[in-house]
Parts: sequence; C-alpha cells; structure tokens
Amino acid sequence: VPEFETLIYEKIDENIARVTMNRPEVRNAQNMLMTYEINDAFDAANDDNDVKVIIVAGSGPHFSSGHDLKGTGPSLDAFKRVGCYGGYHLPGAEGAMAVEEEVFLGMCRRWRNNSKPTIAQVQGKTFIGGLALMWACDLIIASEDATFTDSAANFGTNGVEYFAHPWELGPRKAKEMLFTSDAVTAQDAHRLGMLNHVVPRDELEEFTLALARKIAAKPSFALKLVKESVNQTLDAQGQWTAMQASFALHTLAHCHNRELFGIPVDPNGLGWTSEQISEMRERMRSAQPASS
Ligand code: ZN
Repeated sequence: VPEFETLIYEKIDENIARVTMNRPEVRNAQNMLMTYEINDAFDAANDDNDVKVIIVAGSGPHFSSGHDLKGTGPSLDAFKRVGCYGGYHLPGAEGAMAVEEEVFLGMCRRWRNNSKPTIAQVQGKTFIGGLALMWACDLIIASEDATFTDSAANFGTNGVEYFAHPWELGPRKAKEMLFTSDAVTAQDAHRLGMLNHVVPRDELEEFTLALARKIAAKPSFALKLVKESVNQTLDAQGQWTAMQASFALHTLAHCHNRELFGIPVDPNGLGWTSEQISEMRERMRSAQPASS
C-alpha cells in the first residue's frame, strides 16, 4: 500500500481502494503536492489488478476547500508532469495557461478517464477545486449537510477550470450558482442530478462502502466498458469540447485580472490581506507559476 503525505491510501476488502484527503486543518485545501499525490493514488489503484472500485473521501468536517491559492508546498518543478503542454515557466499567458492546463484541467480529465469506477464520498462544504475533483468521479454520495460553492465570480473568473457546472446541474442552476456565488444544497444538487444519493452524515461512510462493494462484485471489464460507454456519450454530446472552450475563457479572465491588478484574480473578492496580495504579485513577477 503506497504512502502519502497529504492522503491516506487504504485497501478495503482487497478490491476497494479508498483515498482520503488528509489536511483537515486547512479543510483539505488541494495544493500542488496533494494534486500529484491524488494522481499517484489513482495510478496505484489502477495498477493494482485486485482493485475494482476507488473511493475518494476527505477527512474532517469538510470535503474540500478547493485549490490552495496561497501556493503552499512544493511548486510544479518538484513533480513529474502528466500532460505535454510544456513551457510552464514562460512569461505571459503561455506559461500561466500551461500550468493550469497541467494541474487543473488536464489533471481532472485524466482522473475522469481512470478506467475503474470512482466514487466521491462528500460531507460538509466543497468549494471550487473540490467540485472539480468530485465531478471527475463517476458517482457522488453526499451527506445531508453537504453544500457546493463556486465563488469564482467574486474574484473575477468564470468558474473552476474543469467547467462541468452546466452538465452537472443543468444550465439554469449553473448560471445561478456562478452569478451569485451561493452554495447549492445537497437536496438541490440531488434533485438536479449532480448527486447519486444523499444520506445522513453518520451513515455516509457505510453507505458509500456498501455501494462500492456492490459494484466491486461485477466483472472488471464490464465495469470499464460501462464507464467508457457513458463517458463517450458525454464526449459525443460535446462535453469535453465545451470544457476546453470554457477553459479558454477562464484563461482570458486571468489575463484580464493580471492586466488590471498584477495577479490572475481580482483581489477585491479574495478577502486577502495586502501582504498576501503583494506576495502573489511578487510570485507572478518572478515568473513562478502561480495558479488559481
Ligand atoms: Zn485558473
């Protein structure tokens, strides 16, 4: 069983792998290290022929506060890249777009295409980057208290890079969620088809495990083919093309903010101290890839 700094990787019943984000002190904020560890955990589960189902969970009261905008931990150079965009340190939009393609969009697409069924087990609050991780999974089980927020408009962008909102919630709720930055409740998300089941908080883990066990009893190849068939349907409907178009607009928003404020986001909506803003501006100036 592989060991990680930011995750707990467990084998359950030999044929279920559970990956638990384990930075509860920062509500499982996903820094670069956690991103690449999640990726390594998916690969480990994929390479293990006994594993049939992968559960993704978060420790503590909340599933995920999203991408770690403060850039804690090692930067991109510390990791073996999974994409082939290149030019991550180049100035201007070229480098910035490459980083986001690698770490956010391409990464989530890679997780979505993992051949084994994945189940997100979600409690408490989930923000922006946490939504992307959850949406990249095949099934989502949430506790009754779960809420889902993409407040990207507050800081001047269109939404998380893995722009699945209209597909997950329908176009009207997607627009409302993004226009207002309001939290979507588990009940609304369930009604609109984003969640498979909503269960009491103290039953969340057992319910998710029972579902994983039911799925893990099926032949592995059939599971792969089911997953691939549904994913190909979404691709045929244009999901991936639409997400790439939204990502281009997202990059435009970052460029706009950099032109106006010197950082890729509008600082007025961040609630940051002026020191934190200058620090990010400094990171930008020294051509360090800063991401959001
Ligand atoms: Zn971004």
